[in-house]
Amino acid sequence: METQRKSLFEGWGLQSTDRPLVISGPCSAESEEQILDIAKQLKEQNIEIFRAGIWKPRTRPNSFEGVGSVGLEWLKLAKQEYGVKITTEVANVKHVYEALRAGVDILWIGARTSVNPFAIQEIADALKGVDIPVMVKNPINPDVDLWQGAIERIAGAGIDKIAAIHRGFSSFDKTKYRNIPKWQLPIELRRRMPEIPMICDPSHIAGRRDLIEKVSQKSLDLNYDGLMIECHNNPDEAWSDAKQQVSPAQLKEILDNLVLREVVINDASIQDLEELRAQIDAHDKKLFSLLESRMAVAEKIGEFKKAHNITVLQPERWQAILDKTIEEGKKHNLSSEFVTKMFTAIHQESINKQTKLMRK
Ligand code: PEP
Ligand code: MN
Repeated sequence: METQRKSLFEGWGLQSTDRPLVISGPCSAESEEQILDIAKQLKEQNIEIFRAGIWKPRTRPNSFEGVGSVGLEWLKLAKQEYGVKITTEVANVKHVYEALRAGVDILWIGARTSVNPFAIQEIADALKGVDIPVMVKNPINPDVDLWQGAIERIAGAGIDKIAAIHRGFSSFDKTKYRNIPKWQLPIELRRRMPEIPMICDPSHIAGRRDLIEKVSQKSLDLNYDGLMIECHNNPDEAWSDAKQQVSPAQLKEILDNLVLREVVINDASIQDLEELRAQIDAHDKKLFSLLESRMAVAEKIGEFKKAHNITVLQPERWQAILDKTIEEGKKHNLSSEFVTKMFTAIHQESINKQTKLMRK
């Protein structure tokens, strides 16, 4: 089993090379006692990187916006007392200078900052000539170019230790997640930038503590290199993100339950995998030929609609198809979300073909 991290975190000054790299600590620093208590309990679990927000970007004003610079003093104490590396979020040049002066070991850039190329460029300029690891969270909107661009701006300042943090994407749709993961985006970022380690932040993806283990496991199954998990000594009373924070004991349980899968496949299992992939390819071929036949029938219906001068889109018919296919999908163990997406696309393609016919 691949339990060792590759050299992606080289130069970060870490003692352990265990995979995943775990970063933990409260959403926000609240008091010296809180910081020292959590840091102590995490150090006992051999967690090397301690996080805490000092300046908090909050959606609405008049909520707790972080304790500010005084929190840096508490982080410094945690570092001195327990030998943890400390990391905090920086969102502007002032934050960068203060964090550097306080001896913060690793910086992270939050999701609300990585959306803004001006802000990122200013931070990058402030980091010129500084040797410090920087973690870049994905922008709140699902735009992989913007995320890549933020990383490139930081790299352009000469920072050579950069990690990406996947914290999900905000959406108007209500889902079980606070921020929808959209796993294909970080996968695409990794394809473009394979040298950048990928860290999952299940706390901000999930928004609730009972989902954190599942999201963490999924990220490990996708071969992520690290996890950033919010942990508080009294989670329910936390001043920010109370629902998603876990106690040190809960964190331990989550981490103990995680299963690490093989990253490198041995020769014998490659054979099996190739065999299964060949089966998938054969099924895909059949799907295409079925779709071709289905479209041919749709075109015949189009001819009929044209001959009888009726509209292409028949809303009741479309609703009936959708209801029927969702029911049928359930029998075949397919989620209604998947069936809806698939049939919306198929139906749209049929409509496009029929509309074309009308114009001939
Ligand atoms: C945080 O890590 O506490 C935070 C504010 O994160 P994000 O930028 O992902 O919202
Ligand atoms: Mn938080």
